[in-house]
Amino acid sequence: MFMTGYTGNLLAMVKAKNPNEPEFHQAVEEVVESLTLVLDRYPEYRSAKILERIVEPERVIMFRVPWMDDQGEIHVNRGFRIEMNSAIGPYKGGLRFHPSVNLGILKFLAFEQVFKNSLTTLPMGGGKGGSDFDPKGKSDTEVMRFCQSFMTELCRHIGPDTDVPAGDIGVGGREIGFLFGQYKRLKNEFTGVLTGKGLNWGGSLIRPEATGYGAAYFAAEMLSTRAQTLQGKVCLVSGSGNVAQYTVEKINQLGGKAVTLSDSSGYIYDEAGIDEKKLKFIMDLKNVHRGRIKEYTDNFKGVVFTPFDPELDYNPLWNHKAQCAFPSATQNEINGKDAKNLLANGIYCVAEGANMPTTIEGVKAFLDAKILYGPGKAANAGGVATSGLEMAQNSMRMSWSREEVDSRLHQIMKNIHKACFETSERFGTPGNYVNGANIAGFLKVADAMMDQGLV
Ligand code: NDP
Repeated sequence: MFMTGYTGNLLAMVKAKNPNEPEFHQAVEEVVESLTLVLDRYPEYRSAKILERIVEPERVIMFRVPWMDDQGEIHVNRGFRIEMNSAIGPYKGGLRFHPSVNLGILKFLAFEQVFKNSLTTLPMGGGKGGSDFDPKGKSDTEVMRFCQSFMTELCRHIGPDTDVPAGDIGVGGREIGFLFGQYKRLKNEFTGVLTGKGLNWGGSLIRPEATGYGAAYFAAEMLSTRAQTLQGKVCLVSGSGNVAQYTVEKINQLGGKAVTLSDSSGYIYDEAGIDEKKLKFIMDLKNVHRGRIKEYTDNFKGVVFTPFDPELDYNPLWNHKAQCAFPSATQNEINGKDAKNLLANGIYCVAEGANMPTTIEGVKAFLDAKILYGPGKAANAGGVATSGLEMAQNSMRMSWSREEVDSRLHQIMKNIHKACFETSERFGTPGNYVNGANIAGFLKVADAMMDQGLV
């Protein structure tokens, strides 16, 4: 949308001040568009320059990460931590290791995280970090040396009451273990400085499952507003990492049928459905052998693998008949054309496991069609919410049962859905979860910033 007046000027300022960061501009644009509804009603946020402050990170840390591969060759990567906003709690957000990582991508993720964490109702500020290091094809010892070098610098800036990183793309249980080990060694402290830890050294049950489970719970809540459930629904899922795997698991448990999964080399379409046994194969393939999605076709009949084609201006994964879609790979994986294909194929419920997987054009198509569209900062908030529960357990030096954490997660997702739904109504756009999530997330942070003075 073309914005004018105060919000138009703000967006122009953000673009001028942060050149070459299109993903950050996109994330700010989407939020600011929703917030025009708030600023008209509460001009005090405008005079306190809350928006001008909220788009400026409190702190950006950028550092050199030198490491040596198994052949003795030296490599240099770049490390980052964006400490975006601490108005309602310590900075909290994942670390991403992927060759595409740069300052703009991490700023978009940190910005989204501020609103998402606010929505969880837990006391967590927003942050994000990572590196352009690519763990793909690296040995365990190479990944360990990289993580140790990365943490040697990062440990100066984080702490259980300051900034608590977690995993994201390319950072799973293995990497969190190496990072935690090095932090503990350097600081001589065993604290809850990272979440996503192993179960026997401070981790929480259900944390690995939480983002995917939460996305499915959120979809179920959206469907319930139209007196429907996931039972019998055909679901398109992208990605095959942490979020995608547990999204499929929960879809199956709730009676749905997932028919696709992908990685950066292509996607599989399994019309019969990715059942428990097939999902176990995927988990072993991706989490243990670190193989490619195509190998699924060698093991199961009636499956079609379609390689990634950079020449196409759409993703064929989104061009199958289904009712629900769960984008769970990466940002901007659904463009305007994909959104139209999804709608034409009968999709009426989209729950974003990934962060900002839909372009602005795609979001507009979903909103215009008035389908159930749950944006990432609401639909995938179950991961960070359960990280918040891990922090609580660490502080109490206790651990809760699987059932207890899962039921808290489920309740949090219901509360997030309710907050988004009711806020969208309060601001005159009923059923618009984008406005609901942005506004509900914003109000709590903005009020805390107002209370805390000009800092
Ligand atoms: P993983 O690294 O476990 O899995 C990522 C998956 O997406 C892989 O299958 C990967 O394929 C694919 N992928 C990543 N980048 C690209 C790309 N540029 N093009 C095509 N495919 C790609 O990450 P997660 O599952 O943890 O994260 C997935 C998404 O969910 C991200 O957007 C993340 O920010 C978001 N998220 C994650 C949370 C968590 O708790 N982990 C919490 C909230 C959001 P390949 O292996 O070939 O690269």
